[in-house]
Formats: sequence, structure tokens, C-alpha cells
Amino acid sequence: MLKGRMTMVSQKMLALGTTRSCIRELFEYGLQQAAIVGKENVYDFSIGNPSVPAPKEVNQAIVDIVTQEDSVEIHGYTPAPGYMGVREAVATDLNQRYGTKIRPQNLYFTCGAAPALVSVIRALAVDDAEFVTIAPHFVEYRPFVECNGGKLVVVPADMDTFQISFPALERRLNAHTQAVIINSPNNPSGVIYTGETLRQLAELLTRKSREAGHPIYLIADEPYRELVYEQGEVPFVPTIYKDTIVCYSYSKSLSLPGERIGYICVPDEAEDSDQVFAAIAGAARAIGHVCPPSLLQQVVARCAHLRPDIGAYDRNRTTLYEALTSYGYSCAKANGAFYLFVKAPGGSSKAFSERAKAKNLLIVPGDDFGCPEFFRISTCVSYDMILRSLPVFEALIQEYA
Ligand code: PLP
Repeated sequence: MLKGRMTMVSQKMLALGTTRSCIRELFEYGLQQAAIVGKENVYDFSIGNPSVPAPKEVNQAIVDIVTQEDSVEIHGYTPAPGYMGVREAVATDLNQRYGTKIRPQNLYFTCGAAPALVSVIRALAVDDAEFVTIAPHFVEYRPFVECNGGKLVVVPADMDTFQISFPALERRLNAHTQAVIINSPNNPSGVIYTGETLRQLAELLTRKSREAGHPIYLIADEPYRELVYEQGEVPFVPTIYKDTIVCYSYSKSLSLPGERIGYICVPDEAEDSDQVFAAIAGAARAIGHVCPPSLLQQVVARCAHLRPDIGAYDRNRTTLYEALTSYGYSCAKANGAFYLFVKAPGGSSKAFSERAKAKNLLIVPGDDFGCPEFFRISTCVSYDMILRSLPVFEALIQEYA
């Protein structure tokens, strides 16, 4: 051992690898409890795993590809940013939907949104780079930013609507800000940023970019873009703010989280788009993350136009929202994604979720989302379980009466 060297591994990675996420912990606890008290007596709202099957066209496309196409090519390496034909199909779909002029060369295929985000963050992480996000935020933004050369700055949302609080955001933007990361429809609040919120954000970022003397990019993390209820609308962010980089995933939109497929979009209008795209390619290379699954790329080429059947999520969301608010819980109306973010009776979501856990009701405290006074419920669960869980939710809030 070298003199003075205490350990063989990176302490930062060791810490990350040995702390389990609270969501995983709850999920595993649920499995253990099910073995003891019976599956029907555990109400697990912890994890965001899609509960509707992938559209049948997706499975058919897989069958067609593996039975009809050349096996060597199907399972071979692809170009690092993905097959050109796949990028063309997705660019066409985006342009038809949003009236944009995205070129295939603006798209970089990835194994889902997580590595897309890491590649973009790493590409933008100049010295002293700050990445600002809005709480509640996806838990993994912290390791994604802090382990890839940036500092994460968390700004609270307007806690009544979960839209952006602009005075709070403006205070945290400075010359070191490289990007603001937004996620709409949002995990964990289920809220969609309105067109007005996005226009105000664009105005603020344009002004602050001018003051900083460099673009402040907007990273739009969009795995839930297609999960929208009540005719809600998810604007395509690059049409509102030109310096936007989109990170998209088919994990939720086509119910394919285990297949790992998504993309990054850097439109031509974004400042220095060629350099940004090249740096993203470099970042992907640096983390050994290139050539996402060839088979799945080919599935996307055939299925990019499909939208999920969200009827079951909608019924779950409405049933839970109506029941919980009638019991006295307070919760922003979620018209996107598959989560509800509920104010914890008593004020501490950790304490509340411990009480819930004692009744085998598994809900995620909001601390890691940056909002310790709220808890998250995943609504991508079985309807039967929801019905069985309602008396438990009601009994719990009565304990605080
Ligand atoms: N961003 C958000 C907000 C998410 O909720 C998730 C997954 O739950 C991801 C990114 C990562 O998604 P993927 O499965 O595409 O890596």
C-alpha cells in the first residue's frame, strides 16, 4: 500500500454504493412483509415501475425484427449515437407533433433518461459549474450532478401549485450557472409546467444568460411527456426556450424501463449546438456509454409514433386523489406522470411514513426529493390494491385529528 493511502476505493463511490435509496429499501421491505403477512395485506406505493403493459405493437415489432431481420445485425454494435434510420424516424415524429425542424443529427440515442442526463451534465460541467433544479426533484439529480463535476443547487417550487417560484429561482442564478434542470410532468408531484411557467422561465434565462455572458442551458428531463391526463398539454420546451437540451426516455411512455432506451435532443437553435452535441458524445464515451441496444433502437424506429394507454393510471390517480382529499389530506392536483405528492399530516413525512409502514402502507418520504413535509405515492399500481389501501389511509389521518 502506498504511504498515506487509506483505502483502495473512491470514498465518494463507496458512499454512493452502500447507501440504498429509500425507495428501494421500502420496496424490498414490502416484499419481505408480503411473505409474512400475505401479499394482499401490503400496500406498496413506493416504486415507479409502469403497471400497464407495453403496447402490443412493441412486442410484435420485437417478434418481427428477431424473426425477419439479419440476426448478426440485430445484435451487433450500432453507431455510437444510434442508427441513422432510427434517428430519422424520431426526428420525423417530433417534427410532425411540434412543428419543429429537428434533424436526425440532433439526436443522440442512450440507454434511457438516466445516462442521457449524466452525459449532458458531464458535457456542460466546466470548472465551478452549477446546475440548478427545482424541488421537488428526481432524487438521482444529486449523484448525477455531484459525481460528474458539478454543484447541485436546489430551489423550492411554489409549494401550493408546484410550479416554479421565480423570485426564488432568480436569486440562485449567477455566472456559474451552466444549466437549469426541469422535469415536467414531474416526479414526484405529477404537476405539468404550464406554457406560462415555461415562457416566464425562458424570459428569465434569456436575461440571466445575457448577464452571465454565456448561455444558461435548460435541461428538460422528459420521461413522462406522454403521461398526461384531462387534456393537459406538455409544451415541447425547445419551442419556448431555444437553449434547451431534451433528455427523453421510452421507460414510461412505452412501458419499457428494463429495456433501457431513450435519447438526447440538441436542436440546431441551441447556442453552440455542434459543440454541445460533440461534448455530449465525448461524455458518453468517457463513461463508456455508447451504442444503446440495437434491437430496441429498431423497435423505436417502428413504434416512435405510439402513445401509451393511460386509462388505468388515470383511474388510479382519480380514485386516490378523490379519496385522500375527502379524508382530509392535502395534495396538488396531478395531471401528469404517475405520482401524487401529499402533505404529511403532522408535518414530517419521515415520521408519517414510519407510522404508515407499521400498517404495511409503503409511501416515500419527501426528504430526498427536497420536500420533507410531503410524501410520494406511486399511482402505477393495481386498482385492487388501491381499494384495499383506502381504509388504511383514512385510519392514519384520523390518528392526527
Ligand atoms: N428522470 C426522472 C424524473 C425519472 O423519474 C426517471 C426514472 O424514474 C429517470 C429520469 C430515469 O429514467 P430512465 O429509466 O429512462 O433511465
